[in-house]
Amino acid sequence: MGRLPVLSVDLDLIRFNAHRVCSMAAAAGVSIWGITKGLCGEPGVALAMLEGGCSALGDSRLQNFEKMRRAGIEGPFFLIRIPMLSEVDRMVQLADGCLISSLETLEVLEGRCALERKPFRVILMFDLGDLREGFMVEDAPKVGDFCASLSWVKVEGVGTNLGCFGGVLATPANQTELLEVAKVIREASGFDVPIVSGGGTLALKLLEDGTLPSGVNNLRVGEGIILGTDSTGMRDIPYLRRDAVKLIAEVVELRRKPSVPRGEIGRDAFGNLPVFEDLGERLRAILAVGRQDTRPEGLTPLDERVRILGASSDHMICDVEDAPDVSMGCKLSFRPNYGAMLQSATSEYVVKEYLGV
Ligand SMILES: *Cc1c(COP(=O)(O)O)cnc(C)c1O
Repeated sequence: MGRLPVLSVDLDLIRFNAHRVCSMAAAAGVSIWGITKGLCGEPGVALAMLEGGCSALGDSRLQNFEKMRRAGIEGPFFLIRIPMLSEVDRMVQLADGCLISSLETLEVLEGRCALERKPFRVILMFDLGDLREGFMVEDAPKVGDFCASLSWVKVEGVGTNLGCFGGVLATPANQTELLEVAKVIREASGFDVPIVSGGGTLALKLLEDGTLPSGVNNLRVGEGIILGTDSTGMRDIPYLRRDAVKLIAEVVELRRKPSVPRGEIGRDAFGNLPVFEDLGERLRAILAVGRQDTRPEGLTPLDERVRILGASSDHMICDVEDAPDVSMGCKLSFRPNYGAMLQSATSEYVVKEYLGV
């Protein structure tokens, strides 16, 4: 193995998960967009999602579409962070569509598309209570009227985002509300508005339970396909693999030490007041990985005998008393949650390894 730490991603397992999600969704008439932002738009991940059956790719960064295009991936690409006014020109070049929640941006976009003579697809986002992006529901008639004036910009759908700020779950009630919004937009704008996009990974639960109202026909799924988990719903998704992504780090010190520090106690390196339980002397391993590489709170050791005690910028301390075979220089693997994966994916100190094709 080369440089460490490594974020190791098994593309075969991502393809498997994408296929699982997409076939379940297809049976209910729902299309799935594969959301690649969690692994920085890695082309291998995008390809695995498309091969698994995703109908389009979504990412929050135009830079990632550039990377995917350079790798020969053809999309379709949707920018899923509502666009900056300052990136509209580049977006028209690099993406096929976007999520959008501002009339000003729609107007600038229409102008740009007219100039380039290039159609562009938009999903109008509505806030159904989570309080991140979205028009307010009561403004739907006004938004629809405005859209009637668009010609290069095609209103392809309505959508909502849940779970991300307010932690609001997807329910039959908020999904039904979205269907009503779609109707209002259809009538006011004159567009067919074929897509009703009900949310991300968290909405898979409704699909599984058969309670996703008919007419909601698209979900945008990142976490579920990549990690097999649903953070908002606080669950492992039982029919998906949860071992596609691993963080691997090396042991740089192995020593028996007391479990309680000695001396006067102030704050730790991050301003927290540490607390310790006295378990006597324990075998401890220091790993060469820290907050510059990941979010240690979001890691689960793959070896159940290993326990994470804490971490600073570049060191992570583990109790390995029950894992006597851990040795100096050996590598320990961890399963990251979404936050830890994101931090590792964006850290320039972490080597990325993609397995499978
Ligand atoms: C990140 C994101 C998603 C994907 O969410 P997951 O929980 O990872 O499935 C979907 N839609 C929008 C707007 C997003 O920003």
